[in-house]
Amino acid sequence: MNKPVKAVVIVGGGTAGWLTAGIIAARHQARMKAGGLSITLVESPDIRAIGVGEGTWPTMRSTLERMGVSETALFRECDAAFKQGAKFVGWTSGAPDDAYYHPLMVPQGFSRVNLVPHWLHAGGAVSFCDFVTPQGRLCDAGLAPKTIAHGEYRAPANYAYHLDAGKFGVFLGRHCREKLGVRHVLADVESVRQSETGDIESLITRQAGQIDGDLFVDCTGFSALLLGKTLGVGFRECGDILFCDTALAVQVPYDSPDAPLASQTISTAHEAGWTWDICLPTRRGIGYAYSSRHTSEEAARETLLRYIGPQHKDLPVRKIPIHAGHRETFWKNNCVAVGLASGFLEPLESSAIVLVELSAKLLAEQLPACREVMDLVAKRFNETTMYRWGRIIDFLKLHYVLTRRTDTEFWRDNCDPATVPERLRELLTLWRYQSPWFYDEFDRLEEVFPAASYQYVLYGMGFKTEVAAEETVDTAATALRCVQDNEKMIGELSMRLPTNRELLNKIHQYGLQPI
Ligand SMILES: Cc1cc2nc3c(=O)[nH]c(=O)nc-3n(C[C@H](O)[C@H](O)[C@H](O)COP(=O)(O)OP(=O)(O)OC[C@H]3O[C@@H](n4cnc5c(N)ncnc54)[C@H](O)[C@@H]3O)c2cc1C
Repeated sequence: MNKPVKAVVIVGGGTAGWLTAGIIAARHQARMKAGGLSITLVESPDIRAIGVGEGTWPTMRSTLERMGVSETALFRECDAAFKQGAKFVGWTSGAPDDAYYHPLMVPQGFSRVNLVPHWLHAGGAVSFCDFVTPQGRLCDAGLAPKTIAHGEYRAPANYAYHLDAGKFGVFLGRHCREKLGVRHVLADVESVRQSETGDIESLITRQAGQIDGDLFVDCTGFSALLLGKTLGVGFRECGDILFCDTALAVQVPYDSPDAPLASQTISTAHEAGWTWDICLPTRRGIGYAYSSRHTSEEAARETLLRYIGPQHKDLPVRKIPIHAGHRETFWKNNCVAVGLASGFLEPLESSAIVLVELSAKLLAEQLPACREVMDLVAKRFNETTMYRWGRIIDFLKLHYVLTRRTDTEFWRDNCDPATVPERLRELLTLWRYQSPWFYDEFDRLEEVFPAASYQYVLYGMGFKTEVAAEETVDTAATALRCVQDNEKMIGELSMRLPTNRELLNKIHQYGLQPI
């Protein structure tokens, strides 16, 4: 039981595997260099990583910075672009002008004052987003979140990345091997040797023989080879809450190499689901996530084609199943699952990769010193991770349950109270009288979606919170200053910032200042 944890073995070389390897290795470099810890990543040479997952969350900046990754190299090698949020089109009423933003900047003065009551009392002449942050306006104008003069990872406007998932995995792998000392084994895991207690002792691979370890991380994607197949941990479905169960993905070229680049993911609602539209410098990644219970594949393909345009009718379309749900537990014995092996939900808010980052960070911070304490660490990891999955499900469902669309069964079914998680139903009742804010329910150190995200979706979709006029009196002066600061910032940034395309071209040519 006192066996020290010295050998971490990660199976899977997709985004989850390499991010996990990099995050743990960066956190424990000194131990690795002293020979007290080794990290081995085993990856099948034949089973390809999923190769989708192009929208990230701003956490990726600090994750990569901590790993010592050059941001310039990321832009150059991963076909990366800026992401400043998501624009939701057609989700509320389906009318032609129906759109709102979920930007990545929190509202001005967010920790000091809740601007929701002030916005409500101002009468809603401007959108909630424009009232509290400049970011929607920057997106509308196609502007970048920074200039070439800002150092790597620094910016006046918060941002994440859109990137080529296939290139990103390769890029991370090289960095982990060359800079962080991660050992890479290209081999297929064919069987798993377990002790009497159920702990995994070693992997038997086709090409590299036996690989021993003290802690195993299952990053094998949908196959969940270690936690699911070997340790028998079940899967908790949530297709009764989130209906989309199939995705059709396509890569669409631009008409010209200098076509403007949106720096927001565009999520457009359709009759039985929604399309994502992600602009990379050299192409767009587009996909239709839909419910096969509410439409046929043929109709879904037509919807996708209508969105991308008939000139693209011959592009190859990939069909990917979405099995909505997560494992019943995430860490069992000496095996922890990260990434698709732990579960998956429709990619409406790019929640998968951020959860990989948070899980890997938790694992790196709490890395058990020996087998004796592993179950205690596992218990905490499982509690936190279960909480996070629950909150992500709530947050994704929020986008559906606030709709006023009744045009198809898909939208009508989504509003059936029986499909809404209880916690979300309670919060929606509470928020009719008080808006979510800094000190609300969201009390964990690292919430996947903070209260600001809920504000943007709720008030972007026209949710009504009844706030008494006198509630705004005490904070009126602070709120006014925040609103004025916001207007000033909109003016200043609009003048100063280049377009996305201009800045990306400059980064490719000159690079950003390393920090
Ligand atoms: C349609 C779609 C769109 C998505 N969009 C987004 C998005 O915009 N944002 C976001 O955050 N996430 C998104 N995701 C999720 C995202 O793609 C994944 O979370 C991410 O790519 C991590 O995948 P993974 O590494 O867990 O699995 P995979 O990429 O599937 O990697 C699995 C790895 O395991 C290895 N492997 C499997 N079996 C064996 C074996 N027997 N022996 C050795 N190796 C093995 C494979 O070789 C591979 O390297 C999307 C997912 C889908 C399906």
